[in-house]
Amino acid sequence: MRYISTRGSAPTLDFRDVTLAGLASDGGLYLPESWPSFSREQIAAMQGLSYVDTAVAVMLPFVTGTLTEAELRGLCTQAYGRFAHAAVVPLVQLDQQHWLLELFHGPTLAFKDVALQLLGLLFERFLNGSSQQVTVIGATSGDTGSAAIDALAGRAGVDVFMLHPKGRVSDVQRRQMTTVIAPNIHNIALEDASFDDCQALVKAMFNDAAFSGSFALSAVNSINWARLMAQIVYYFYAAVRLGAPDRAVAFAVPTGNFGDVFAGYVAAKMGLPIAKLIVATNVNDILHRALSVGDYSQGTVVPTPSPSMDIQVSSNFERLLFDLGGRDGHALAAQMHGFEGTKAMQLTNAQRAAANALFGSDRIDLDDMALAMRWAFDSCGQTIDPHTAIGLSAARRAGLGADVPVVTLATAHPAKFGDAVERATGQRPALPARIGDLFAREERYASLPGTFDAVTAYIAARAVAR
Ligand SMILES: *Cc1c(COP(=O)(O)O)cnc(C)c1O
Repeated sequence: MRYISTRGSAPTLDFRDVTLAGLASDGGLYLPESWPSFSREQIAAMQGLSYVDTAVAVMLPFVTGTLTEAELRGLCTQAYGRFAHAAVVPLVQLDQQHWLLELFHGPTLAFKDVALQLLGLLFERFLNGSSQQVTVIGATSGDTGSAAIDALAGRAGVDVFMLHPKGRVSDVQRRQMTTVIAPNIHNIALEDASFDDCQALVKAMFNDAAFSGSFALSAVNSINWARLMAQIVYYFYAAVRLGAPDRAVAFAVPTGNFGDVFAGYVAAKMGLPIAKLIVATNVNDILHRALSVGDYSQGTVVPTPSPSMDIQVSSNFERLLFDLGGRDGHALAAQMHGFEGTKAMQLTNAQRAAANALFGSDRIDLDDMALAMRWAFDSCGQTIDPHTAIGLSAARRAGLGADVPVVTLATAHPAKFGDAVERATGQRPALPARIGDLFAREERYASLPGTFDAVTAYIAARAVAR
């Protein structure tokens, strides 16, 4: 499988190089040059498979030429063996129509572990025996950082510099990053910054020829294709358990960077019958505006109790626009440059019509989020986190026919956002024993002003030049 850039002028790469690259050299994002597709029979054959076997079946077409099936199985067995639930991502029934897909049983309690545990092993495998020293630079609204740090701490060949917006992640999220004391892990709290500011700085570092020429830069954000690939798996795993390929299933996805829900789009492209992908945003609603009225314009980020979705520029939306627009990289590059200049963009009618065939969207405010948490708690005995509540609220309002099962992706463990859960339900969720002493551990991080010069100077003094 070869990978191409959404902006049409970067070199095509194989799976190894796309995993280590992150952003394409033309500023675009990498995608497979074509979508693999599964027949009904192939999907039906997934019905009894374990999570690891499903993962191997779904991901194999994307890694051919780089990994054998046995190698992929070995990596998946190791990555998903670290999950604390025997089903890896269990489906939990709420009522006759609604299910939760619990994606938070990994080491850092959010769905990011599903992809990053595998990505950490891929990095290790691809760098093992090479003299290459990779510098991972990432921006996090909280969960990517902790998942990446858990996956990469202590691994040879990789240094990690993780930027988070100071004071805008939860205490559990911050401590899961800053209490990992390893020589290759560097946490940076960016002062007076939002997640978008962190992400923009990371993009600027990748796009700065002098800086990116000095280090072998690599990404762990969902601009990294391998992350999205790992997330396609659970759409198949859940849907076949609810009747696919004979019955179409809908998914409600709490969204920030459009990564998780883009993986659902890929699953649909690969032949999985998906009735609807419901894009659920909080009040930072650029994606809801884009999908409902075609207005993709950047607002000001409002901090909310669902910080991992406090985003106003959704990187992966570019991948969708590329694919919907007939994969014309040069046209998309012009559209994206327009957006980068004016911070606003109108979707074309063709892009909107194509998107609306599969996607729905909704914007969930604080009251509706709290109502969804309370409904899950009172009516179903389930404690859910604020991000999951946004997905569930949108799922219940989507007005799908009663015969369509709707799966809400449960993206974080409720204990990761204990304050918000306690406010809504009156109960404080306990941290699982496996991370129980988090609040007793020493923290280590640097506080830096959110300027390009301050951050690049800090990194240049610590990273290994190529
Ligand atoms: C990252 C995250 C999201 C948003 O995922 P995207 O891939 O950025 O759309 C939602 N919920 C939680 C808990 C997250 O950590």
